[in-house]
Amino acid sequence: MNQKPQLPPHVLIFPLPLQGPVNSMLKLAELLCLAGLHITFVVTEHMHGRLLRYANIQSRFECYPGFQLKTIPDGLPEDDPRSRGKFAVLLDSLKSKGKLIFKDMLTSGCLSHQKRRPVSFIIADGCLGFTCDAANEVGIPIVYVRTVSPCCLWVCFCLPRLIEAGEIPFNGDDLDTLIKGVPGMESFLRRRDLPSFCRSGDPDDESMRLYKTEGQENSRAYGLIVNTFEDLDGPILSHMRTVCPNIYTIGPLHAHHKNKLAEQAASLPPTSNSLWSVDRSCMTWLDSQPSKSVIYVSFGSIATLTKGQLMEFWHGLANSGVRFLWVIRPDSVAGEDWESQVPAEVREETRQRGYIVSWAPQEEVLAHFAVGGFLTHNGWNSTVESIHAGVPMICWPYFLDQQVNSRFVSEVWRLGLDMKDTCDRATIEKMVRDLMVVRNEEFSRRAEEMAQLARTCLNEGGSSYGNLERLVRDIESMTQDRTT
Ligand code: UDP
Repeated sequence: MNQKPQLPPHVLIFPLPLQGPVNSMLKLAELLCLAGLHITFVVTEHMHGRLLRYANIQSRFECYPGFQLKTIPDGLPEDDPRSRGKFAVLLDSLKSKGKLIFKDMLTSGCLSHQKRRPVSFIIADGCLGFTCDAANEVGIPIVYVRTVSPCCLWVCFCLPRLIEAGEIPFNGDDLDTLIKGVPGMESFLRRRDLPSFCRSGDPDDESMRLYKTEGQENSRAYGLIVNTFEDLDGPILSHMRTVCPNIYTIGPLHAHHKNKLAEQAASLPPTSNSLWSVDRSCMTWLDSQPSKSVIYVSFGSIATLTKGQLMEFWHGLANSGVRFLWVIRPDSVAGEDWESQVPAEVREETRQRGYIVSWAPQEEVLAHFAVGGFLTHNGWNSTVESIHAGVPMICWPYFLDQQVNSRFVSEVWRLGLDMKDTCDRATIEKMVRDLMVVRNEEFSRRAEEMAQLARTCLNEGGSSYGNLERLVRDIESMTQDRTT
């Protein structure tokens, strides 16, 4: 007869060492802590240093005795800048050096003690395939998590067939040709909407090699966790389930996390998983702006602008006459100190209507009554946060899944305008005015309808609420027989 283990399951969570994945996986970690599970959260040493400096993980997780933060080397020299443009190098290094260390973590007993079982379940980013190898070798069940969008994942699942059909790689400038080989997207997916690396024309492109095995890779794990909800991505999810039958849609994750915290206690410290220092002064500025009058501008944690693009955005925003709150990170403008690039008279012109910070409390900004639009790079977290807040978008995708996401925002969900592949002041001015003034009612209505669905799925009986419960139950039942 099976005896119920005395100690809760011990789940190891291993995110990609990037702001978006670490942020959302910490929220998942806290959700699982709230469900009573023990968690070991593994980050690279470099990421650990930044989290200690800017985020409040230590103090926030103090109330969960079952939580521990552990580090793993990424294999790069300490003084390597780990620039985000060279993420593939970091990933390769982590993959080649990480597997042995990771396996040792699982088997050496270093993660368990009297009050904590050995690791009995793993949740790892699907890009870290070595975690699945190690999990299989030591017999621990693993679920993958993907922090990119399902629509992009589905395109990646289809890459082998696109290659076979000769749809990619392609040469030439005709980016408006429709792509026919992605079921469910035949009528609207153009070459320009494919993940950015598909444009290289090189079948051996590094990213192409990495992403064309997505379908095979993701189906190796017991299940797949994604940050979306059924009402948003239902049609794409049914295609994905033909490859990965067990998908847990638990998003919008940031709001799911917030709801569960609110259920538990009002007095927990506010969440910050940021790798930059958050400038909250923009909230006071927003407080003094009229309702829905401000467009929030942010291109996430990775995208960089050229000096020319910075100036086009600046003039476009200035000429639109619309108020704006703009996040310009210290490293936003490639190789430059951005402040020295913008002439004083141009800055003066927008001083009354524009506010700039180097990092904002984005979720709060999007929920603020003064914010009526979001000029975004469509990173998946930003996209989901905007959808949940009911804020329509202007999309200026930078790379990877963002090209696909922006097509979905504009053509499928009709929540905004897609500005991909252009960056001139006249277009920016027109789109900002269209979104914020001319077509504001239409976009705001659509955005509010979708936001309602995003909120409902998190209520008891909703799909994401139920899927998180299912995930916890699955973890409990799959770890029942493992040693306590
Ligand atoms: N973010 C933030 N403050 C900022 C800009 C971004 O808190 O000033 C957060 C944002 O809420 C999101 C994450 O950083 O959760 C960015 O992730 P996303 O997937 O959108 O883009 P990436 O940074 O991975 O390109």
